[in-house]
Amino acid sequence: MINENFLKLSGAYLFSEIARRVNVFKTQHPEAGIISLGIGDVTQPLCPAVIEALHKAVDEMAVAATFRGYGPERGYNFLREAIVEHDFRARGINIEADEVFVSDGAKSDTGNFQELLGKDVRIAVTDPVYPVYVDSNVMAGRSIVKLPCKAENGFAPELPGEQVDVVYLCYPNNPTGTTLTREQLKVWVDYALSHNALIFYDAAYEAYIQSDDVPHSIYEIEGAKECAVEFHSYSKTAGFTGIRCGYTVVPKEVKSEELKVKNSSLNQLWNRRQSTKFNGTSYLSQRAAEAIYTPEGKAQVQATVGYYMENARLMREALTGIGFTVYGGKDAPYLWLQTPNGMTSWEFFDKMLQKAHVVCTPGAGFGSSGEGFVRLTAFGNREQTIEALERIKTLG
Ligand code: PLP
Repeated sequence: MINENFLKLSGAYLFSEIARRVNVFKTQHPEAGIISLGIGDVTQPLCPAVIEALHKAVDEMAVAATFRGYGPERGYNFLREAIVEHDFRARGINIEADEVFVSDGAKSDTGNFQELLGKDVRIAVTDPVYPVYVDSNVMAGRSIVKLPCKAENGFAPELPGEQVDVVYLCYPNNPTGTTLTREQLKVWVDYALSHNALIFYDAAYEAYIQSDDVPHSIYEIEGAKECAVEFHSYSKTAGFTGIRCGYTVVPKEVKSEELKVKNSSLNQLWNRRQSTKFNGTSYLSQRAAEAIYTPEGKAQVQATVGYYMENARLMREALTGIGFTVYGGKDAPYLWLQTPNGMTSWEFFDKMLQKAHVVCTPGAGFGSSGEGFVRLTAFGNREQTIEALERIKTLG
């Protein structure tokens, strides 16, 4: 017998369907040079500080005296200390190294963390949403409450009308590229504290925040250490989509009534889960991640983020200039483009592909509230991004 919940997952994965349509078009029009502003992978190489750290780590592996085998379960101290210092203490947040769990990226952790929850826990996600939160809970047999995020509510979810136990929030958001201010995020922390709810906060795009009133971490909000787990990724921060490294913060204060009685904590449970099922992120990846916290690493990573954000600015400017309504792209590498003339997101996808030879991501693939929008990414190289914009201008 199989886990029948897997049969409840929606059929074609969004990006497989996009690839299928692109391949059909390519077969019919082999001469068309297609530019993808679709999948959210990065294009710029790793920065020199990271490359240097990787070479050094490789050399260490070649010598018995410095060779490393299995690493510590929560990740090497050198990386967890750097995280605590630069991502939290520098922002006035007190997180301790044993509250940080280094991982191979935020996809695994955002997908796996629900294993610690009871089967009947009520889950809420924003709609549109990063599909991992939904699918991992469907696999576990849970039903999910959707919180619509539309232009009318400024893409900020409203508090659920019914009791929910866990809320997934991702800001800066994938796919809408929009953010929550401190005041808006405080509403959710207060909700969680007063309703015994838990927040899973995905900060994968935190490095792209430019505005002062947008929090980089949920722990900037008072009380969040009692009700929130936060996921981080080096994928978009530093181009680690192929290197693989991220981390999750599980504060020791996060406890349900049941955990309090049992004198345990979510931190202990996650440690137990990880040490059973995960054997750590490679030493090389962790040394690479450590390098982004050096002064040179910081400056270099910031330059790459700046490069993508300049793409985003050019995209916003060009698209609004030709009459599109565009959201996001100010504190995030994603733009959320309203389809013209009431077209569905797949209709507009086809038009962009066939007329402009540009690939976007249909908003409907992220949830029903994504209908009427497409997602564009600023992760392309400059020349291709500019070329794509020129072609979109001729769409008419
Ligand atoms: N969370 C969000 C919102 C994402 O968009 C992504 C990647 O696209 C991830 C997590 C996964 O990141 P990682 O590469 O660290 O697994």
